[in-house]
Amino acid sequence: MKEVKSPKKPLLYYYCIVLLIIFLFNLLLAPLLAQNQVIEVDYGTFMDMIEEGDIGIVQVEDTQIVFTNKDETQIYETGPMDDPTLTERLHNCGAKFDRVIEEPTSPILSFLLTFVLPILIFVGLGQYMSKKFMEQAGGKNAMSFGLGKSSAKVYVQSTKGIRFADVAGEDEAKESLQEIVNYLHDPGKYTEAGATMPKGILLVGPPGTGKTMLAKAVAGESNVPFFSISGSEFVEMFVGMGASKVRDLFKQAKEKAPCIVFIDEIDAIGQKRNSGSGYGGNDEREQTLNQLLTEMDGFEENTGVIILAATNRPESLDPALTRPGRFDRRVPVELPDLQGREAILKVHAKKIKPAEDVDFHIIARMAAGASGAELANIINEAALRAVRNGRTIVTQSDLEESIEVVIAGYQKKNAVLSDQEKKVVAYHEIGHALVAAKQTNSAPVQKITIIPRTSGALGYTMQVETGDKFLMSKEEIENKIATYTGGRAAEEVVFGSVTTGASNDIEQATKLARAMITRYGMSDEFDMVAMETVQNQYLGSDTSLACAPDTQRDIDRKVVELVKKQHEKAIKILEDNRSKLDELAGFLYEKETITGEEFMDILTGGDKQ
Ligand code: ADP
Ligand code: ZN
Repeated sequence: MKEVKSPKKPLLYYYCIVLLIIFLFNLLLAPLLAQNQVIEVDYGTFMDMIEEGDIGIVQVEDTQIVFTNKDETQIYETGPMDDPTLTERLHNCGAKFDRVIEEPTSPILSFLLTFVLPILIFVGLGQYMSKKFMEQAGGKNAMSFGLGKSSAKVYVQSTKGIRFADVAGEDEAKESLQEIVNYLHDPGKYTEAGATMPKGILLVGPPGTGKTMLAKAVAGESNVPFFSISGSEFVEMFVGMGASKVRDLFKQAKEKAPCIVFIDEIDAIGQKRNSGSGYGGNDEREQTLNQLLTEMDGFEENTGVIILAATNRPESLDPALTRPGRFDRRVPVELPDLQGREAILKVHAKKIKPAEDVDFHIIARMAAGASGAELANIINEAALRAVRNGRTIVTQSDLEESIEVVIAGYQKKNAVLSDQEKKVVAYHEIGHALVAAKQTNSAPVQKITIIPRTSGALGYTMQVETGDKFLMSKEEIENKIATYTGGRAAEEVVFGSVTTGASNDIEQATKLARAMITRYGMSDEFDMVAMETVQNQYLGSDTSLACAPDTQRDIDRKVVELVKKQHEKAIKILEDNRSKLDELAGFLYEKETITGEEFMDILTGGDKQ
């Protein structure tokens, strides 16, 4: 490597001199430049200047508004604001839009910049390149130099106005995020108590459910700056840009702390590494991800920088991202239920003029499975339809029509439940819960919902004791098997036919029943003889049979017998409580969600007992 180094020496020397000259000139010119600096003003000042007609040229950009005074002697800038009448008012006060504002530079500096510097660079680069060519040395590409810098100031957004109240429904998500708001209001209290806030929080849910809105609302409620960037923006850049953008983002965030950093579509950079490698081109993503991990580890807890990230594919994320100290908290943001949909419709309906007879409850019911974004779209479509028909008032039929327009789009991709399916799922889920509740005489259920979940399950029964207890009695296991069969049992009792919806239940019930016989010694026939050994305690499922083929057949028969007995018990329970089953399933079908409390109220209260 010696021969590469030596010819570089004079070149490096030469560059140093150039840099020194530029540096010196800048030093001399700094005070000169300061006079011509752009003045940052707040939006109010801007408004006042419009009022007074003291506006010359205006340039409205995405991230800022640059403008001059009437005499065009001073340049100002201010942040953008959602202000639909701005253009009109600007026009009225005589602002000019036709020219580009150029930041003033002193004559000496512009001479330097326009003549001397390019020549220096040209000559320098030419020499450098010719050397490179002569050496024929591979290695670093000259083009990649200097591209690592990303432009600053692109991220900060005004979140003024967005509050939790603007996000309809999603009460659970808001509740989890409230803690962050409390923290940002008074970090001292947390430090004093020795509590640390998680650095990263993952908002998980389907698109259009309000994740971005929630993140903005957290910033709005806490009154802190909001930095936002999308994961896909990181990867669409030149090599090395993603990582440097991450660095830049965190540098700014730390300066502005306390603040919220929001990374949308984090899966774009946070996908599992090395999955399906061999295509190359993943380098950039990996570098960006590594930089993100480094940055997250690099700052102390309680610095006031809270990172929120959104994804609808949490399972595809690299485990390194979800490790403690990184995105170790998850907030589910699910599709809204009936009540949530109605609330969202009402929020967005504030922008339109609905007719007297509009019933949002009916609209919400018709739009089962729609996300918040789709509901917002339904309202907008309805307003457009009204205008097409020469009206400004939006009627019920406008809304109903527009559901069809919007739903036609999403029904295919979202697999929305039909009415009959919804009914079956409601009975199925109540079947599980009712069997469980009747056997133990306690509230087994926290919440049941029949909105399709991110996890892919249709219904969802959350039981208080979901985790395995250390010790379970024979009776408890039998009850659990009966509970698993409860879903299918309800379908049989009510509809007389069965669906494929119970496949997971069947698997679980069978597993338990088999374990009772082969591992827990809970059958009379085989007593305490181990028929099966578990190979790997942690992976659980790796078992191997250790018995004669005849015995195997007996075990299989016994498993069937056991499950069948519990299945019959479940059917009996449901038949005996048919009116409660109908009432509960009806409630769930109507409301799409039922809490444990509501469940017990209906179960214990009401008619007979
Ligand atoms: P995500 O980030 O989850 O994809 P967004 O937050 O970008 O969804 O939501 C898109 C739009 O949908 C929002 O601008 C808003 O108009 C509407 N929206 C979504 N969820 C809600 C909600 N819960 N309440 C009110 N509006 C909502
Ligand atoms: Zn089930």
